Amino acid sequence: MATKRDYYEVLGVERTASSTEIRSAYRRLAARYHPDVNPGDHTAEEQFKEINEAHEVLSSAEKRQIYDQFGHAGPPGGLGGAEGFGVGDIFDMFFGAGGGRAGGAERTRQQATQGADLRYDLEITLEEAAFGAEKTLKLSRLEACEHCDGSGARPGTSLQGCPACHGTGQVRHVQNTILGSFATVTPCARCRGEGRIITDPCPACHGQGRLRRSADHDIQVPAGVDTGTRLVDQGQGDAGLRGGPPGDLYIVIYVQPHPHLTRRGHDVIHEAKVTYAQAALGDTFEVPILGGREKLTIPEGTQPGATFRLRGRGLPDVNGRTHDRGDELVVIHLQVPTHLTDEQRRLLKELAAASGEKLHPDERGLFEKVKDAFTGKA
Ligand SMILES: [Zn+2]
Ligand SMILES: [Zn+2]
Repeated sequence: MATKRDYYEVLGVERTASSTEIRSAYRRLAARYHPDVNPGDHTAEEQFKEINEAHEVLSSAEKRQIYDQFGHAGPPGGLGGAEGFGVGDIFDMFFGAGGGRAGGAERTRQQATQGADLRYDLEITLEEAAFGAEKTLKLSRLEACEHCDGSGARPGTSLQGCPACHGTGQVRHVQNTILGSFATVTPCARCRGEGRIITDPCPACHGQGRLRRSADHDIQVPAGVDTGTRLVDQGQGDAGLRGGPPGDLYIVIYVQPHPHLTRRGHDVIHEAKVTYAQAALGDTFEVPILGGREKLTIPEGTQPGATFRLRGRGLPDVNGRTHDRGDELVVIHLQVPTHLTDEQRRLLKELAAASGEKLHPDERGLFEKVKDAFTGKA
């Protein structure tokens, strides 16, 4: 390791310089040696790094104090602390006297961040819930930038070890008290805990390593799902950061109401309206079922509220615990006509008389008479 220049010398300030003087010296020098201003100039790049490192230390009161006391070499021998670590180690983390302390594997782990899980609310019909369906989801998610392979660095350049934390992603602050030295560990602010910094960002993703993309994603909705069923598609969420694993995609099912069928567990219910004649004489008619229509025969003398079961016309168990589908239950409702023709009225009266009923249909209530007066029927 080359001998390090004194940080005050690097920034060209006095040892007694105020924080304002240090900041303005840093800004002036950083502007002069910035890689954007000196493309391809390796010396300028090294100086730029040196300036940043010096500023990193001298702009922090705590770090500056330790540096003033011990210089680059760090404090002699471990002073010991409450947790039994040597201050020399801490010093290494601040100033990198040991260089490359963190191993490659450790660095990778610290930088790699799992992508976020995504939630997709999917509306399907009751038929799709019953038989399963193939659906194409329109996703908007972060995908790895193919230009830089997700690194965020301009292709051909590499990430630099963060000078502030020397690749550990963490900084320790030491407090000396009469009880001993205490250390607190916080994520490095410079590299946001990633341990490495991008000096030359990828132009496609601006150093993010990921780009928001819309993607068509095909999924298979299994038969038997219900509102609130959550399907998980592993690895289909946002891409991870710096090689981290992707998040998962959660698909939350919402089954739309069906115009003729109501779901009850694995069964569906259909409310069928029949006339007095159909119920009394019996009839065969079509009822809606999942995915079509089917003939239902009701016997003579069917009562309102009677229920007929169409076996296997319901939904399957989504977990496949049984191969039997549920049933469709047809509930019979009696439909009473609201308007009768004279012919119908006469025949119904005859029917009533034949049944021995004594009706007085003409003795309508006051309300009906008033209504008829207004509608011109009276
Ligand atoms: Zn990129
Ligand atoms: Zn850092």
